[in-house]
Amino acid sequence: MDNNSAEKVLEVKGLSKQYKKGVYASEKVTFDVNKGEIFALIGPNGAGKTTTIRMISTLLQATEGDAVVAGHSILTEPEKVRKNITYLPDEAGAYKNMTGKAYLKFMAELYADTKAEVDEYVQRGCEICELGERLNDKIATYSRGMQRKLLLARAIMSKPALAILDEPTSGLDIINALEIRRMIKKLASEGMSFLLSSHNMLEIEYVSDRVGIIAKGHLLETGKPSELLEKYGTKNLEEVFERVVTDNEIL
Ligand code: ATP
Repeated sequence: MDNNSAEKVLEVKGLSKQYKKGVYASEKVTFDVNKGEIFALIGPNGAGKTTTIRMISTLLQATEGDAVVAGHSILTEPEKVRKNITYLPDEAGAYKNMTGKAYLKFMAELYADTKAEVDEYVQRGCEICELGERLNDKIATYSRGMQRKLLLARAIMSKPALAILDEPTSGLDIINALEIRRMIKKLASEGMSFLLSSHNMLEIEYVSDRVGIIAKGHLLETGKPSELLEKYGTKNLEEVFERVVTDNEIL
Protein backbone atom coordinates (compact mmCIF):
# COMPACT_ATOMS: atom_id res chain seq x y z
CA MET A 1 0.00 0.00 0.00
CA ASP A 2 1.17 3.50 -0.81
CA ASN A 3 2.21 5.00 2.51
CA ASN A 4 0.92 8.47 1.69
CA SER A 5 -2.54 7.49 0.51
CA ALA A 6 -3.14 4.89 3.25
CA GLU A 7 -5.61 5.63 6.02
CA LYS A 8 -3.61 6.62 9.08
CA VAL A 9 -4.69 5.24 12.43
CA LEU A 10 -1.83 6.86 14.30
CA GLU A 11 0.16 10.00 13.49
CA VAL A 12 2.96 10.79 15.92
CA LYS A 13 4.17 14.36 15.49
CA GLY A 14 7.38 15.45 17.17
CA LEU A 15 6.68 13.79 20.51
CA SER A 16 9.26 14.58 23.17
CA LYS A 17 9.57 13.76 26.83
CA GLN A 18 11.90 15.23 29.40
CA TYR A 19 11.59 13.57 32.81
CA LYS A 20 14.33 15.91 33.95
CA LYS A 21 14.79 19.37 32.46
CA GLY A 22 17.24 19.22 29.58
CA VAL A 23 17.37 15.40 29.46
CA TYR A 24 15.29 13.88 26.66
CA ALA A 25 13.98 10.33 27.14
CA SER A 26 12.48 10.75 23.66
CA GLU A 27 13.06 13.66 21.31
CA LYS A 28 10.88 14.78 18.39
CA VAL A 29 9.68 11.27 17.59
CA THR A 30 7.62 11.26 14.38
CA PHE A 31 6.01 8.31 12.59
CA ASP A 32 2.66 7.01 11.27
CA VAL A 33 0.82 3.72 11.50
CA ASN A 34 -1.64 2.84 8.74
CA LYS A 35 -4.87 0.90 9.05
CA GLY A 36 -4.15 -2.81 9.17
CA GLU A 37 -0.45 -2.23 9.67
CA ILE A 38 1.89 -3.73 12.26
CA PHE A 39 4.50 -1.15 13.22
CA ALA A 40 7.23 -1.96 15.74
CA LEU A 41 9.49 0.36 17.67
CA ILE A 42 12.76 -1.45 18.19
CA GLY A 43 15.72 -0.42 20.26
CA PRO A 44 17.80 -1.41 23.26
CA ASN A 45 16.92 -0.99 26.95
CA GLY A 46 16.36 2.65 27.82
CA ALA A 47 15.93 3.75 24.17
CA GLY A 48 12.63 5.50 24.84
CA LYS A 49 10.17 2.91 23.54
CA THR A 50 8.01 2.69 26.66
CA THR A 51 8.12 6.45 27.16
CA THR A 52 6.87 7.01 23.59
CA ILE A 53 4.20 4.34 23.89
CA ARG A 54 2.96 5.66 27.24
CA MET A 55 2.59 9.17 25.81
CA ILE A 56 0.57 7.81 22.86
CA SER A 57 -1.54 5.80 25.33
CA THR A 58 -2.31 9.04 27.26
CA LEU A 59 -0.70 7.60 30.42
CA LEU A 60 2.21 10.03 30.35
CA GLN A 61 2.13 13.71 29.52
CA ALA A 62 4.25 14.76 26.54
CA THR A 63 6.69 17.63 27.02
CA GLU A 64 6.32 18.62 23.35
CA GLY A 65 4.52 17.38 20.26
CA ASP A 66 1.26 15.56 19.67
CA ALA A 67 -0.12 12.23 18.52
CA VAL A 68 -3.40 11.67 16.72
CA VAL A 69 -5.17 8.33 17.14
CA ALA A 70 -8.09 7.60 14.80
CA GLY A 71 -8.41 11.36 14.27
CA HIS A 72 -8.21 12.32 17.96
CA SER A 73 -5.39 14.25 19.59
CA ILE A 74 -3.84 12.91 22.79
CA LEU A 75 -3.65 16.52 23.97
CA THR A 76 -7.19 17.70 23.35
CA GLU A 77 -9.26 14.48 23.19
CA PRO A 78 -7.58 11.92 25.46
CA GLU A 79 -10.89 10.15 26.31
CA LYS A 80 -11.61 9.56 22.61
CA VAL A 81 -8.06 8.29 22.15
CA ARG A 82 -8.57 5.84 25.03
CA LYS A 83 -11.79 4.57 23.37
CA ASN A 84 -9.81 3.67 20.26
CA ILE A 85 -6.77 1.97 21.78
CA THR A 86 -5.84 -0.79 24.13
CA TYR A 87 -2.49 -0.84 25.83
CA LEU A 88 -0.68 -3.90 27.06
CA PRO A 89 2.18 -2.80 29.29
CA ASP A 90 5.42 -4.72 29.46
CA GLU A 91 4.90 -5.85 33.04
CA ALA A 92 1.16 -6.05 33.41
CA GLY A 93 -0.07 -7.10 36.80
CA ALA A 94 -3.46 -8.74 36.39
CA TYR A 95 -6.14 -8.86 39.02
CA LYS A 96 -4.80 -11.93 40.78
CA ASN A 97 -7.85 -12.76 42.86
CA MET A 98 -10.24 -12.73 39.91
CA THR A 99 -10.74 -15.73 37.68
CA GLY A 100 -9.51 -15.27 34.11
CA LYS A 101 -13.09 -15.17 32.88
CA ALA A 102 -14.19 -12.59 35.46
CA TYR A 103 -11.22 -10.43 34.49
CA LEU A 104 -12.16 -10.54 30.79
CA LYS A 105 -15.76 -9.62 31.68
CA PHE A 106 -14.62 -6.81 33.97
CA MET A 107 -12.43 -5.35 31.23
CA ALA A 108 -15.07 -5.88 28.52
CA GLU A 109 -17.52 -3.83 30.58
CA LEU A 110 -15.08 -0.92 30.54
CA TYR A 111 -14.94 -0.87 26.74
CA ALA A 112 -18.34 -2.11 25.55
CA ASP A 113 -21.42 0.05 25.14
CA THR A 114 -24.02 -2.74 25.30
CA LYS A 115 -24.48 -6.08 27.08
CA ALA A 116 -24.34 -7.85 23.69
CA GLU A 117 -20.93 -6.25 23.08
CA VAL A 118 -19.69 -7.38 26.50
CA ASP A 119 -20.70 -10.95 25.66
CA GLU A 120 -19.07 -10.71 22.23
CA TYR A 121 -15.79 -9.40 23.68
CA VAL A 122 -15.68 -12.01 26.44
CA GLN A 123 -16.35 -14.80 23.98
CA ARG A 124 -13.62 -13.55 21.67
CA GLY A 125 -11.24 -13.11 24.60
CA CYS A 126 -11.86 -16.68 25.78
CA GLU A 127 -11.19 -18.01 22.28
CA ILE A 128 -8.03 -15.95 21.82
CA CYS A 129 -6.34 -16.88 25.09
CA GLU A 130 -7.08 -20.60 24.67
CA LEU A 131 -7.01 -21.17 28.42
CA GLY A 132 -10.06 -23.45 28.34
CA GLU A 133 -11.26 -24.61 31.75
CA ARG A 134 -8.43 -22.75 33.47
CA LEU A 135 -10.35 -19.53 32.79
CA ASN A 136 -12.46 -20.50 35.82
CA ASP A 137 -9.38 -20.53 38.08
CA LYS A 138 -7.92 -17.53 39.84
CA ILE A 139 -5.28 -15.62 37.90
CA ALA A 140 -2.93 -16.07 40.88
CA THR A 141 -2.64 -19.76 39.89
CA TYR A 142 -1.57 -19.01 36.27
CA SER A 143 1.97 -19.34 34.94
CA ARG A 144 3.59 -16.18 33.53
CA GLY A 145 2.85 -17.35 29.99
CA MET A 146 -0.81 -17.97 30.82
CA GLN A 147 -1.11 -14.50 32.38
CA ARG A 148 0.49 -12.97 29.30
CA LYS A 149 -1.97 -14.73 27.00
CA LEU A 150 -4.89 -13.58 29.13
CA LEU A 151 -3.68 -9.98 29.04
CA LEU A 152 -3.14 -10.15 25.30
CA ALA A 153 -6.64 -11.53 24.84
CA ARG A 154 -7.92 -8.61 26.91
CA ALA A 155 -6.02 -6.13 24.72
CA ILE A 156 -7.35 -7.60 21.49
CA MET A 157 -10.89 -8.80 22.31
CA SER A 158 -12.52 -5.40 21.76
CA LYS A 159 -10.85 -5.06 18.35
CA PRO A 160 -9.62 -1.53 18.99
CA ALA A 161 -8.49 0.64 16.06
CA LEU A 162 -4.98 0.43 17.52
CA ALA A 163 -3.57 -2.16 19.91
CA ILE A 164 -0.39 -1.02 21.63
CA LEU A 165 1.60 -3.97 22.86
CA ASP A 166 4.81 -3.49 24.82
CA GLU A 167 6.98 -6.62 24.41
CA PRO A 168 3.96 -8.74 23.37
CA THR A 169 5.61 -12.15 23.61
CA SER A 170 7.78 -11.45 26.64
CA GLY A 171 7.90 -14.51 28.90
CA LEU A 172 6.24 -16.82 26.40
CA ASP A 173 7.81 -20.02 25.12
CA ILE A 174 8.42 -20.38 21.40
CA ILE A 175 5.15 -22.17 20.61
CA ASN A 176 3.05 -19.61 22.44
CA ALA A 177 5.10 -16.75 20.96
CA LEU A 178 4.47 -18.12 17.46
CA GLU A 179 0.74 -18.37 18.15
CA ILE A 180 0.62 -14.78 19.37
CA ARG A 181 2.52 -13.55 16.31
CA ARG A 182 0.15 -15.41 13.99
CA MET A 183 -2.82 -13.96 15.85
CA ILE A 184 -1.47 -10.41 15.50
CA LYS A 185 -0.94 -10.93 11.76
CA LYS A 186 -4.43 -12.33 11.29
CA LEU A 187 -6.09 -9.45 13.15
CA ALA A 188 -4.02 -6.95 11.14
CA SER A 189 -5.18 -8.59 7.91
CA GLU A 190 -8.74 -7.94 9.14
CA GLY A 191 -7.96 -4.22 9.59
CA MET A 192 -6.71 -3.83 13.17
CA SER A 193 -3.52 -1.80 13.57
CA PHE A 194 -0.70 -2.59 15.96
CA LEU A 195 2.05 -0.63 17.58
CA LEU A 196 4.54 -3.04 19.11
CA SER A 197 7.71 -2.45 21.01
CA SER A 198 10.53 -4.89 21.44
CA HIS A 199 14.25 -5.21 21.89
CA ASN A 200 14.04 -8.62 20.24
CA MET A 201 14.83 -7.47 16.72
CA LEU A 202 14.89 -10.89 15.14
CA GLU A 203 11.37 -11.66 16.32
CA ILE A 204 10.05 -8.31 15.21
CA GLU A 205 11.49 -8.77 11.72
CA TYR A 206 9.00 -11.60 11.15
CA VAL A 207 5.89 -9.97 12.52
CA SER A 208 6.14 -6.30 11.49
CA ASP A 209 5.17 -4.57 8.28
CA ARG A 210 7.37 -1.62 9.20
CA VAL A 211 9.79 -0.87 12.00
CA GLY A 212 11.18 2.25 13.61
CA ILE A 213 14.69 2.09 15.02
CA ILE A 214 15.00 4.09 18.22
CA ALA A 215 18.11 4.73 20.31
CA LYS A 216 18.77 7.27 23.05
CA GLY A 217 15.34 8.80 22.47
CA HIS A 218 15.87 9.41 18.73
CA LEU A 219 13.89 7.66 16.02
CA LEU A 220 16.72 7.16 13.57
CA GLU A 221 15.19 5.15 10.76
CA THR A 222 11.83 3.72 9.67
CA GLY A 223 11.00 1.29 6.90
CA LYS A 224 9.95 -2.19 5.92
CA PRO A 225 12.34 -4.82 7.28
CA SER A 226 13.14 -6.04 3.75
CA GLU A 227 13.85 -2.47 2.55
CA LEU A 228 16.15 -1.79 5.50
CA LEU A 229 18.06 -5.04 4.96
CA GLU A 230 18.59 -4.03 1.34
CA LYS A 231 19.45 -0.41 2.13
CA TYR A 232 22.12 -1.35 4.66
CA GLY A 233 23.23 -4.56 2.90
CA THR A 234 22.73 -6.64 6.04
CA LYS A 235 21.32 -10.07 6.85
CA ASN A 236 19.07 -9.14 9.75
CA LEU A 237 17.63 -6.20 11.68
CA GLU A 238 20.20 -6.49 14.45
CA GLU A 239 22.87 -5.66 11.91
CA VAL A 240 20.73 -2.84 10.50
CA PHE A 241 20.41 -1.47 14.03
CA GLU A 242 24.18 -1.61 14.52
CA ARG A 243 24.75 0.22 11.24
CA VAL A 244 22.14 2.88 11.95
CA VAL A 245 23.46 3.74 15.41
CA THR A 246 27.05 3.74 14.18
CA ASP A 247 26.19 5.97 11.21
CA ASN A 248 24.42 8.36 13.58
CA GLU A 249 27.22 8.13 16.16
CA ILE A 250 24.52 7.62 18.74
CA LEU A 251 25.83 4.94 21.09
P1 ATP B 1 13.28 -1.05 27.94
O1 ATP B 1 13.50 -1.84 26.69
O2 ATP B 1 14.34 -1.30 28.95
O3 ATP B 1 11.89 -1.13 28.48
P2 ATP B 1 12.69 1.58 26.79
O4 ATP B 1 13.20 1.74 25.38
O5 ATP B 1 11.26 1.28 26.94
O6 ATP B 1 13.57 0.51 27.54
P3 ATP B 1 12.20 3.88 28.48
O7 ATP B 1 11.64 3.08 29.62
O8 ATP B 1 11.27 4.68 27.67
O9 ATP B 1 13.07 2.94 27.53
O10 ATP B 1 13.32 4.83 29.09
C1 ATP B 1 13.94 5.87 28.33
C2 ATP B 1 14.80 6.71 29.26
O11 ATP B 1 13.97 7.44 30.15
C3 ATP B 1 15.78 5.91 30.11
O12 ATP B 1 16.98 6.63 30.21
C4 ATP B 1 15.08 5.84 31.46
O13 ATP B 1 16.00 5.73 32.50
C5 ATP B 1 14.35 7.16 31.50
N1 ATP B 1 13.11 7.09 32.31
C6 ATP B 1 12.07 6.25 32.10
N2 ATP B 1 11.09 6.47 33.02
C7 ATP B 1 11.54 7.48 33.83
C8 ATP B 1 10.98 8.18 34.95
N3 ATP B 1 9.77 7.89 35.43
N4 ATP B 1 11.75 9.15 35.51
C9 ATP B 1 12.95 9.47 35.01
N5 ATP B 1 13.53 8.86 33.97
C10 ATP B 1 12.83 7.87 33.37
